Amino acid sequence: MIRHRAVANAPLSLQERPPGFVFREPAQNAPRDHKTSLLQCEDVSLLKLAKRYGTPLYVYSARTIRQRMAGFERAFGDFAHTVCYSVKANSNLGILRLLARQGCGFDVVSGGELKRVLTADRHAAKRVVFSGVGKTRHEMLAALKAGILLFNVESESELAALAECAAHLRSTAGVALRVNPDVAADTHPYISTGLHKHKFGVPIATAGSLYAKAARERYLKVAGVSVHIGSQITDVAPFGEAVSRIADLVRQLRSQGHSIDFIDAGGGLGIAYQNPETDFEDYASRYARVVTEPLRELNVHLLLEPGRAIVAPAGVLLTSVLYRKQNDGKRFLIVDAAMNDLIRPALYSAHHEIVPVSRTRRAANESGEIVDVVGPICESGDALARDRELPRVEEGELLAILDVGAYGMVLSSNYNTRPRPAEVLVSGKSVKLIRRRETIRDLLRGEP
Ligand SMILES: *Cc1c(COP(=O)(O)O)cnc(C)c1O
Repeated sequence: MIRHRAVANAPLSLQERPPGFVFREPAQNAPRDHKTSLLQCEDVSLLKLAKRYGTPLYVYSARTIRQRMAGFERAFGDFAHTVCYSVKANSNLGILRLLARQGCGFDVVSGGELKRVLTADRHAAKRVVFSGVGKTRHEMLAALKAGILLFNVESESELAALAECAAHLRSTAGVALRVNPDVAADTHPYISTGLHKHKFGVPIATAGSLYAKAARERYLKVAGVSVHIGSQITDVAPFGEAVSRIADLVRQLRSQGHSIDFIDAGGGLGIAYQNPETDFEDYASRYARVVTEPLRELNVHLLLEPGRAIVAPAGVLLTSVLYRKQNDGKRFLIVDAAMNDLIRPALYSAHHEIVPVSRTRRAANESGEIVDVVGPICESGDALARDRELPRVEEGELLAILDVGAYGMVLSSNYNTRPRPAEVLVSGKSVKLIRRRETIRDLLRGEP
């Protein structure tokens, strides 16, 4: 899609992600040829980070993560709640430690993620919920031994397997059924989960008999109801609709004698990749209002599983322009990041803003050019942006791909035997390498 706007007049907000990523303007008295502003992560120049750590490079702002987490907490205020950050959005230990220090709980979907959480904070188990349609017995046993808060169970067979594992260890598993509320949410089909045609959850109408089954198991403790309708949902109304259906179910279950202490409202709150919201607190408050409203009289503890909304705007992917190329009229910027580093554009046709890290003051009438920003991978799907209007950038220049803090590095692969990028976490002036760049040796290890 071509968006017609003059680059020189683009509102700043399209290119900046405060408080993490803002341009530092050149000094007033800088010489004419130094009138260049540079994109920074907090107090650190991205140009310097690229020089020091190489590209492609994931850079995260701790301030953004703290601020969004705090915004979420404030939005839910006095309503009894625990934010269980969805680890799958970004599972780097450095990020998990930062969130654990904020008092965060965690939502995990695998034994590997559980291991990460316990590595980041060995006291976190009591704040962990375990979701996912295909938990293995091995994973269940590990979670039972760790003593997690809640299993979000998604089928009758899984319930039986969990009962077996819990009995084997003689340890009680807290159980919530993930119910499918049959609520449609406007998002990409791959990340929509709340309809009966999806593989997730159990239909709300049949939940009653499964709860009865769970209640008969000696080592299962019915504790809650959970729901998750999908991801990247920016209209808050469907969340309210789903939760109000859950509230009805809770009343019904209680009348049948079950004690329901927790409602897990899942994650899924989206972000505006194209026109970032200027007031996250207001957005989070609107979300909190629709989610808590149907629960007012129920006296439940609310669990929330945001992933993207906390970390997406906290990350950029830095990439260098390797070559400029023109085929007939079509212009390409070939960069050193590719679909193996960031698959969202190729997988979901996702839009990420791309901005040159150094911005020279341009004449107001100077327009940009329309380019495809593509990686080196041998596949036509390997594009980071298509038909994008960018200011002209030269070979060797640095670009920042915005809002990649969620579902960026975690979805990366080694396709084309490409080592994955390094990751750094910036807080004020401090820079921490939270994952070193992979080497080709790393990739060959394990293959005799
Ligand atoms: C993916 C997922 C989340 C997080 O979704 P976001 O869109 O990142 O907030 C939360 N809960 C469950 C069960 C999930 O599968």
